[in-house]
Amino acid sequence: MEPAKPARVESRVRTQLRNWLQYGEELGLGPYYRDRRANTEIASVFPSDETASTENPKLGRRSAPALPHIPEKTSAMPPTKILKNSASSLISPAHAENLFGDPFRVANDSLPKIREDIGDCTRCKLSKGRTKIVFGTGNPNARLMFVGEGPGRDEDLSGEPFVGRAGRLLTDMIKAMGLQREDVYIANVVKCRPPENRLPEKDEIEICSPFLMRQIDTIKPKVICTLGSCSAQTLLQTTQGISKLRGEWFDFRDSKLMPTYHPAYLLRNPAAKPEVWKDLQRVMAVLGLQAPKKR
Ligand code: URA
Repeated sequence: MEPAKPARVESRVRTQLRNWLQYGEELGLGPYYRDRRANTEIASVFPSDETASTENPKLGRRSAPALPHIPEKTSAMPPTKILKNSASSLISPAHAENLFGDPFRVANDSLPKIREDIGDCTRCKLSKGRTKIVFGTGNPNARLMFVGEGPGRDEDLSGEPFVGRAGRLLTDMIKAMGLQREDVYIANVVKCRPPENRLPEKDEIEICSPFLMRQIDTIKPKVICTLGSCSAQTLLQTTQGISKLRGEWFDFRDSKLMPTYHPAYLLRNPAAKPEVWKDLQRVMAVLGLQAPKKR
C-alpha cells in the first residue's frame, strides 16, 4: 500500500481536530483559544487554504470557536504594568464573604451605608487621637478619584480631606486639569489622623482600607490617582517605592490606577512638579480632558 502523503495526513488530522472541537462545543466546552496568540500558533501549526482565506490571517481560522472579545489597546486605554511579588495580605480570610466572592464587595452598597458602617469607629488605635473621622468628599459618580494616605491636622479638625497646604496644592492640580474639586472624589487610606502626621501603620491600614475599597467599588471611577507611596503601595499591594511606581498605569479592580507624588512632597520638592504634571496629563488623556486655556 502506498504510504500516506504528508499533506493528506495533515488534512486528516485537521478534520479530526475540527470534529473534536465541534464535539466539545456541542457539549458546551470551550472556547478553546484563550487569546489571539494561541490562535495564531494553531494557524501556523496547521497552515492551510482555510487560514490563508481568512480576512485577517492573524485572527486564525474562520471556523475556529468564537474568541472572547479582547479590546485593542488604544491611546485611551494605555498599557498597564503588572507588579511582580505583590502581596495580598490586604485580603485577609477574615474579610472574605465566601470562598469565591470578592471580600470587599457589598451588595447594594452606597457611600452613606459605608459611612454608617464606619460609625463612631474605635476599630484601631488612631481613633484615640482623632477629632473627626475624615470619610471622603466629592462627586459620588466621579470618573476620577484621588487617594491620599491619611488626614493631617487641618483635615482632622474640619472632617474634610486635603484642606490644608497640601490640599490647596491638590486643588490647584485639579483645576490645572480643567476640573473642580466637586467633579472628583477625594479619600484617604485611613480615615483618622495618625499622631504627629506619621505614616499609617500596617494594622491601621488593614483595618481601615476595606472601607476605601468599598468607596472605590461604589464610585467606580475610571481613573484612580494615588498620591504618595502609602496609597499606591496599599492599593497595589507592593513595597516598591513611589519613584518606581509613578507615571505607570496599573489595573486596579475596574479602574486604571496612576500613582504620583503626594502634594506634601511637592511642597518640599517643587522640582518634582513637572513629573507630577506629566502623570496628570496621562490621566487627562484617558479621561479626554483638556487643560484650560491660560488667560
Ligand atoms: N494628606 C493626605 O494624605 N490626606 C489628607 O487628607 C491631607 C493630607
